[in-house]
Amino acid sequence: MQINILTDKECGLIKNLIETSEKIIVCCHVNPDGDAIGSSLGMAEYIRSYGKQPLVIVPDQFPDFLKWLPGSEDIIRYDKHKSVADTAFEDADTVFCMDFNCVERVDGMSEALQASKSTKVMIDHHPNPQMDTLVTVSHPELSSTSELVFRVIWQLGSFDTMTPNMAVPIYCGMMTDTGGFTYNSNTPEIYFIISQLLMKGIDKDKIYRNVFNNYSSSRLRLIGYILYNKMQVNEEYHVAWFTITRQDMTRFMFKKGDAEGLVNMPLQIKGLKMSISLREDTEKSNLIWVSLRSVDDFPCNEVAKEFFNGGGHLNAAGGRLHCSIEEAENIVKLAIIRFADQLSR
Ligand code: 5GP
Ligand code: MN
Repeated sequence: MQINILTDKECGLIKNLIETSEKIIVCCHVNPDGDAIGSSLGMAEYIRSYGKQPLVIVPDQFPDFLKWLPGSEDIIRYDKHKSVADTAFEDADTVFCMDFNCVERVDGMSEALQASKSTKVMIDHHPNPQMDTLVTVSHPELSSTSELVFRVIWQLGSFDTMTPNMAVPIYCGMMTDTGGFTYNSNTPEIYFIISQLLMKGIDKDKIYRNVFNNYSSSRLRLIGYILYNKMQVNEEYHVAWFTITRQDMTRFMFKKGDAEGLVNMPLQIKGLKMSISLREDTEKSNLIWVSLRSVDDFPCNEVAKEFFNGGGHLNAAGGRLHCSIEEAENIVKLAIIRFADQLSR
């Protein structure tokens, strides 16, 4: 079983950076998900074990179902505390970039991140890392950035001193990025890591409930409505898509995170290869957030790149469109035609 992922040189650099830096930031991508928040909190808590006081800065709001995580109460939102965060980026010695592979992924925070003279360390599992860093820990073949954080802590010889406040967010990120270990989760090491985390006393069943069974009744009714009224299924090309408009959101008292996991549901249809969600931004008009999921070897990240200004993993990708929801649906139809050969098989 191979848990180590760093070269000796990378080990030394990371350890040295934590030891010698006074001002450390841990940050992650826009629209942070369980892995972005989990890996950031896990890493921050690890850095705290060196007696340091890292700041966790995220570009914008994160879902309520992550707000029980230890340390989440101290997370600084860039969009809400821009001047504090800008100063922190200016003053930082080291910035850990978690769960993203290029500055564009931090959205409004990218200027501050790029202007920062700090040393950068990227820990990420998205393909094609494109950032100027001292250390890039990039493993697209692994389940999650949170898994990488575990491996880094393990390899730096710190497992013995790992606290539940590191173990819980790490487990949470691994769990959410694999849909509760139902995809991207075939490597045996994952289960070794889980067994080690359990030895730290984490309650994995509770973590599952906190994340997946922690919604409002209106979120469940939104899902029912979308699946019944809005899901379009193209049987010939094995694709389904749906839209969530601001009107839908108002009707179902939409809160950030309420659409989480919805895009996976159409994949329950036998033979379906790709599912696409088109969601209007809660505030800005003509901004559509796109989520794509696929199965087996169908590359939804290529669809995201070619049609939706985005990218991601083979089976989970995202992007955005600057147009109306009707135009976005037309783009979905064009994408289906473009990938018809692979989809109709
Ligand atoms: P989600 O649908 O959960 O928002 O995103 C799924 C995955 O797609 C994310 O884990 C991330 O890897 C990727 N992704 C989402 N949006 C973008 C984007 O705008 N650009 C790129 N490169 N990847 C994205
Ligand atoms: Mn991730």
